[in-house]
Parts: sequence; C-alpha cells; structure tokens
Amino acid sequence: MQALALLLLVATEPTPLSRAAEAARNVSRDGGTADAGPSAPKGLRCLSRYYLGEAAHRDGGWGLMLPDASYLSWDDGRDEEPYDGGAEGEDGGEEEEEGEPFVPALRDIFATPYQRGPITPVAGDDTLEDPGRARIDPLFKAAYGSSWREVMSHLTKVKFFGTRYPFHERASGPLERVAARLETAAKSDPSLAPFLKGLGGTWHWRRIARSRALSTHAFGIAIDLNVQRSNYWRWQRPKKPLKWTNRYPQTIVDAFEAEGFIWGGRWIHYDTMHFEYRPELLDPDCWP
Ligand SMILES: [Zn+2]
Repeated sequence: MQALALLLLVATEPTPLSRAAEAARNVSRDGGTADAGPSAPKGLRCLSRYYLGEAAHRDGGWGLMLPDASYLSWDDGRDEEPYDGGAEGEDGGEEEEEGEPFVPALRDIFATPYQRGPITPVAGDDTLEDPGRARIDPLFKAAYGSSWREVMSHLTKVKFFGTRYPFHERASGPLERVAARLETAAKSDPSLAPFLKGLGGTWHWRRIARSRALSTHAFGIAIDLNVQRSNYWRWQRPKKPLKWTNRYPQTIVDAFEAEGFIWGGRWIHYDTMHFEYRPELLDPDCWP
C-alpha cells in the first residue's frame, strides 16, 4: 500500500503509459472479483465524468488512469482504514506525522450513502461512517492541483452575498448557482441572511485536523458559512458522547445539495457550517 501511495504521490511527471501500467501491475492488489466485470463500475465511470482520468481495466480489475499515467485502483482488496477522528476544522493544519497519507480505494467513496432531503439528527457514536469522508488525495490533486501554487493558479473569485471569495474554477459555477438560489430565497425569508454573512471562508491550504490528508479547503472546493451559527463536534463539551446539533436551516442545505455540495451536518462528526463540492455523491447515476 505504501508503495502505491508513494508511486502516486511522486509521479508528478508524465510517464509513458506502458511503464505506468507495469508499475501499477507490480503494486496492484486487485482481487479481480467484485470489479472484474466486462464494463466499468458505475461509480468509476462517474468519477471520470467529474474528475480527471479514464476508466481502465488492469489485471482483472478496474481503476482510473490519471492524466499523469498513475493508476488508482477501484477495489484494491483492502478494508477501509479505521476512522481516526480526522475532520475539517480551524484547528487543523499543522499535524506532523510520518509517511504518506492513507489513500482509500476509489470504491470507498461510495461505501456510505449520502442522503439528501429533510434534515435529520445523526444518531450514533464515533464509529459511524460519515458519508463523503473517504477522500482520495491523488484524485483531487489531479483535478484541482497538487500544490498550493498550482491550486492557486486555478482559483477564481465568486461573489457570495456581497463578498468575493476565492474558489476553484472547476467548482465556481456551482457555487455561483448556489449563491443565486440563496439570494432569491433570502428575499422572501430574511432569517437566512445571518447564516450567509461573516463566513468562515473558502480556500485555505491545510491538512485535515489530526490527519495527513489535505482538507477540501486546500483544493478551493469547500466553503464554511457563518461560524457563530455553526455547531462543530470538536467544540462539543463534554467531548463524549457525540451529540449531533444543528441550527442551519433546510433551505440553505437544499440550495447547496442541489448544486453538488455535500453538507457537514450529515455527519456524526458534525460541522454544520461546512459545504464541499462532491458532485459524485449527489448524482444518483453514480451509485450502484
Ligand atoms: Zn470547512
């Protein structure tokens, strides 16, 4: 696994397809069972639609060939890494840990269904999986940029309730449409406005708290709305048991989800001001 992660993370220069395929063959652990069918899994086809890369068949299993010719396995036969409490938050960023981040298999993105619809309290304990938490660093780096400098060169400004915020150009259209929906909604419901001003922010190069993976804020595809009205599991006292709490209204959640953003209020590790652009999780065509 470490070899695979290392391969993916150091392969910044384009390499000939044959060499990359050979390298992938050496490190691939595809069982060649669940994903060995004649056509690519739905979720994989969907990832190539929303990210960069082509579905490819290797060693009896499917995966995604990225533009730099590195290969991400759809199902590498491993179990998911046990959740270590990593989460979005302003206390993230400066963790020093050895080694490369754990890279989940692509299919893990779809391991936990993301449910739209009426806001419902999330009941459970810290072992409950948060939909969308399995984030594939190499997939995001290929689509959005692999360094802060590269991401920054793809940022554009999006006007959101009178203030302009940096956002990745691949996700700026959806955020503009969210803003338009909410501006219309706020005209008939003034109680929405306080949630949409005094934002926590958008782009911020940082790692997920107590984790080695980059936050979606680092890629410019996440936005934190009003901080004062947010509830965040790391702020909870006493810390255990986790008690899901939320003050964000349905209208705001609906507007973001309609444009491909998931909401941190759907997690037992709740972070209710947090929205991130994850269109694959909101597209019914992506699910098995
Ligand atoms: Zn956030």
